[in-house]
Amino acid sequence: MWSQKWVLGNWKMNGRTARNQDLLEGILPQAACGVQVGVAVPAVYLAAVAATAGQALWAGAQDVSRFEADGAFTGETSAAMLADAGARFVLVGHSERRQYFGEDNTVLAEKLHHSLAAGLVPVLCVGETLAERDVGEAEAVVARQLAVLKDWRAEGVAVAYEPVWAIGTGRVAEAAQIAAMHAFIYRQILSLCGEGAKIRVLYGGSVNAANAADILAIPQVDGALVGGASLQAEPFTAIIQAARTAAGALS
Ligand code: PEP
Repeated sequence: MWSQKWVLGNWKMNGRTARNQDLLEGILPQAACGVQVGVAVPAVYLAAVAATAGQALWAGAQDVSRFEADGAFTGETSAAMLADAGARFVLVGHSERRQYFGEDNTVLAEKLHHSLAAGLVPVLCVGETLAERDVGEAEAVVARQLAVLKDWRAEGVAVAYEPVWAIGTGRVAEAAQIAAMHAFIYRQILSLCGEGAKIRVLYGGSVNAANAADILAIPQVDGALVGGASLQAEPFTAIIQAARTAAGALS
């Protein structure tokens, strides 16, 4: 458990130059003090977002190439390029990448390694589908996804638990389900990476202005990964405020 909470937005494939600027101007006054705020943006906007964000807010990417070195990999963006453009973190293995691009642990291990080597914080996204939860497989699925961290020191990596059935659906996991899965993830990380391992675990899945305070008050929740509600300044800043209050209550 960490005293500072993180609130990371995921813009997915949304944004335009002028709209991004307006959104950032709405967020930035809330971004300092006590909470680490970031936004994972489409790669094409990364440099502009990083320039506007300055030190107050982390610009991040939503994906990174599995290839490390420059070369003949048309359409790819390497970890070094993301860092060069101002990224501080990168989402790795978001469920939409697993679903639409077939990303598996072999590919994700490469992405994690290259991100760390480039000085980025990789945020490894894990989570089960509703069908998997319904047949009692949720922990087994998440354990298989976390196995990509096996034998790493794993410092500098964060994990986001995002039940697939809660992403973009308006359906949020119950507090007890979140607390239990986060506790399971901590135990898995200790057994995979060694007893000293210290990894931040965020929750994601329909976090919004109305439910953020309850979710962020769960002691096992070190922050939130926010999709839809990060696309407008008002709900996103309300979530940041909830994180600040929750962190204050813990310290
Ligand atoms: C996400 O895309 O990571 C996410 C959590 O989306 P939403 O908040 O819209 O469910």
